[in-house]
Amino acid sequence: MDKKNCPSAPFKKGHSIFAVFEDRTFKFTEDLVIIDEELTVEATKQKNKTDYRATMPCVTKGCGNWDGQKCAVPDQMRQYLEPIVDVYNYRNCPIKSTCRWHAQEGELACQICPLIKTRFFDLQVDHRGEF
Ligand code: SF4
Repeated sequence: MDKKNCPSAPFKKGHSIFAVFEDRTFKFTEDLVIIDEELTVEATKQKNKTDYRATMPCVTKGCGNWDGQKCAVPDQMRQYLEPIVDVYNYRNCPIKSTCRWHAQEGELACQICPLIKTRFFDLQVDHRGEF
């Protein structure tokens, strides 16, 4: 099976940033930015780790979100979020070719992706419609 990457990894040294929330707008980075010691210290100081979306290799059954066949997060999120369409260019996503959610659901996953903060409990339902 192809190796896939989790698009909702925690902000942690060794993981890579692929998108940021700036002024409540979701933007992809041009290249992946590896989270190093310096970035970790700075984000801890600024208390803004959830302003970043990071990626790491998908660990399948090593993750609580793995339902045995696939990642359960996109299905769970769809119960709470209205998809957004054509308000950001998800075709430019730097991890699209390896993204676990995209591999499972194609652009349907991308339509809820910017509404999801790094951790499940950071989900901001109030962000709906602001991107
Ligand atoms: S769901 Fe789509 S926009 Fe989100 S990380 Fe995966 S490919 Fe990128």
